[in-house]
Amino acid sequence: MRPGAVDVDLGPGASVAVLDVGGTEIKSSVLDGGGRLCPVVHSPTPRGADVVDRVVDAVAAHVELARASHPDLGAVGLVVPGIVDPERGRAVFSENLGWRDVPFPDLVAARTLLPVGFGHDVATAGRAELELGAALGARDAAVIIVGTGIAAASFVDGSPLLAHGWAGELGHSVVDPAGPECVCGARGCLEAIASTAAIARRYAAATGTTVPGSREVLALAEAGDPAARGVWDGAVAALAAGIRQLAAITSPELVVLGGGLSRAGDALFAPLAQALARTVPPHRVPVLRPAAIGAYAGLVGAALLGREASR
Ligand SMILES: [Zn+2]
Repeated sequence: MRPGAVDVDLGPGASVAVLDVGGTEIKSSVLDGGGRLCPVVHSPTPRGADVVDRVVDAVAAHVELARASHPDLGAVGLVVPGIVDPERGRAVFSENLGWRDVPFPDLVAARTLLPVGFGHDVATAGRAELELGAALGARDAAVIIVGTGIAAASFVDGSPLLAHGWAGELGHSVVDPAGPECVCGARGCLEAIASTAAIARRYAAATGTTVPGSREVLALAEAGDPAARGVWDGAVAALAAGIRQLAAITSPELVVLGGGLSRAGDALFAPLAQALARTVPPHRVPVLRPAAIGAYAGLVGAALLGREASR
C-alpha cells in the first residue's frame, strides 16, 4: 500500500476482490481471508462508448488474478461514482463516465459467478469512515469528499441517508447565487468554488496564470499572493456555507473531510472551524475532523460490501 493508507483489519472471513472505479482511475485490491487489504493497484478508467463493457472486463480480469492468489475468493466488492442505487443494483447515472441505468452487480456476477457487493464510492467511503475511521462511534455524521468534485455521505441516528442514491450531492447545492457557472448548468454550486479543480481554475481565471492544482494556489496564498488568498478564502467560506446547509437539515455532530483538499491540513481546517463557529449557529456546530482512511476509504467500503455479499 502507499504511505498514508490505513492498516485495516476486518477480521477473518472470505477473501474479496475489491474495486473502486473513479473518474480517472480504478483502484483494485484483494481483502484476504484474514481481513487485510493487499497492495493497491491503480489503472486508468476506460473511456468511450463501450465504457460499461470495458469496466466489466477490468473487474473480471482483476477477479481472475485475485482467484489465482486467493483460491478462497468468495465475493466481489465494487463501488462506482455518480448516482447509484444499491438497493436496485443499478448505477443510475454518471455524467463523467457517460452511463445510465447499468446493472453492474448482475453483469459482474454473470461474468465471475461470484456474489457482488455494490455501492456508491462516496457513500461507501463514508461508511468505512463511520465503521472503522474518523467518524467511529458517531451517530449523526457527514463525510464530505472534496476532490475534483464534491460529494457527501450523511448518517442520521446511525443510518445512512441514501434516497435511492440521490442524497449527498452536496457539490451541487448553491452557496453563492452570484458565483461561477457549474458544469451542472447552475450558478454558484459549492463544487464550482471549493473543489480542488475549481480552486485552480478560479485562480487561473483571476490572474491568467495556470497552476497545476489547489495545492499551488494555497502555497501562493501563504506566500502573500492576494489573488490566491481571495480564491482560497472564498473556497473556505463556500465550504462553511455548504456545511451550514447540512447543519440546518441533518445536523451532523461530526463532519469528516476527505479527498485531495483535506490534505491541506491546518490551512483548511483552522479557518473552516472558525467560519463554522461564526456562521452555523443557531444550528448545532459540528466538530471537524480529517478523514482517517483517506484515499482508500472507497476500497475499504467495497471490502465491507463484499464481505456482506459473501455471507
Ligand atoms: Zn452544480
